[in-house]
Amino acid sequence: MISRVAKTDNPARFPVKHRHLPGYPVLLVPILLSILTFNCRMTEKTEQPPSLPNQKSKQQDAIAIHRRAISIDMHADTTQRLVDENVDLQQRLSDGHLDSVRAKEGGLEAQFFSIWVEPQLFGGGGQSAMKRADVQIAAVRELTEKHPDTWQFATTAADIRRIASDGKMAALTGLEGGYAIDEKLENVERYYKMGVRYMSPAWSVSTSWAGSSGDEAGKTRGLNEFGRNVIREMNRVGMMVDVSHVSDKTFWDIVNNSTKPVIATHSGCRAIASVPRNLTDDMIRALAKTGGVVNVIFYPEHLEPGWSEKKKLVDAEIAPLVQHASEEENRDAVHKRIARDRVRSEEFAKRLPPVTVSRLVDHIDHIVKLVGIEHVGIGSDFDGVQSTLSDLHDVAELPNLTRELLRRGYSEADIDKILGGNMLRVMEETEKH
Ligand SMILES: [Zn+2]
Repeated sequence: MISRVAKTDNPARFPVKHRHLPGYPVLLVPILLSILTFNCRMTEKTEQPPSLPNQKSKQQDAIAIHRRAISIDMHADTTQRLVDENVDLQQRLSDGHLDSVRAKEGGLEAQFFSIWVEPQLFGGGGQSAMKRADVQIAAVRELTEKHPDTWQFATTAADIRRIASDGKMAALTGLEGGYAIDEKLENVERYYKMGVRYMSPAWSVSTSWAGSSGDEAGKTRGLNEFGRNVIREMNRVGMMVDVSHVSDKTFWDIVNNSTKPVIATHSGCRAIASVPRNLTDDMIRALAKTGGVVNVIFYPEHLEPGWSEKKKLVDAEIAPLVQHASEEENRDAVHKRIARDRVRSEEFAKRLPPVTVSRLVDHIDHIVKLVGIEHVGIGSDFDGVQSTLSDLHDVAELPNLTRELLRRGYSEADIDKILGGNMLRVMEETEKH
């Protein structure tokens, strides 16, 4: 798909309407001169010509600010596409939300690739869960080894800064759910050594040692003794603790036990969209006190009030279609899930109201008002969701976020912090021993 944003990014693509010129030779010289002058000024990055409409100049500002910032997306599930669909990320893909071409267009500097072990398919622990995690980490490494001019594997804030200054993109990894540590403390260090830099103790299914926000067990389960030891071990080795997906009880056990900043890699505010996956104001305050960052998710269900209820109704309506797609797919359980998600994605687009980037910025505003500009970041959940914002449909449209932040009065320094600066600070803090 073609990015609306990238089109405005290149001054050389300023609309030149040649087709009208031959009929009006007298106009040719002044028009050409004005175009040349305009392009010249843009290339030299001098002040905007005063004749430019205000809106246009604001857009140019947004693009320039966005390009100068280090943008770090804390969570995308593109990893599973690498493994299960064997996608070539060097190509502009016609589906999904992220590939190298669109990431470049969107001015992305660093991507945390989610290492997601789906417990229903790979077990909540044991060899199969570990293997599933290992295969995904290997896939991210392979991406960086195959395309070193585009991607570099990274593990530190300094890596991200260096890779960004070289004009490349940093690929990092985080474990979504603690299933792959297989209830063994030593596996925290194992994954750290493999490059993993954050872990959420549970995804939508509780582990024996940490409750999830997504199941019954999580309603009463926090961290047990082993769970608290896992957090200590993560603090010791320098792996960030992610509270996205954990139960409320687990959240409080984590903030009360972690000695390092705690992060949410892809969550929103419950005060705006009341879903269990989001954080209450008290939680956001407590997380900020650890020095951490709430990275706001781009998924409408976690952003738009009432969207989750509407989605449930649509899911019930389309159940036969989804079931049919699953049955038609003859391959394994993973491919059946992909087939189901594809139908859901198509039907959601048709049946659910569009949500825009403005709503995402409402969540950012809310966090900033509660705890200040230092504690907010971004975590798209691209390729992990079946619906996206209508004007932030994929990574290429990331500058639309900067444009909206600018429109709301955020300064360049603020925007730098939101897009990645705050996470660089947390990474540096976590790396200290
Ligand atoms: Zn998730």
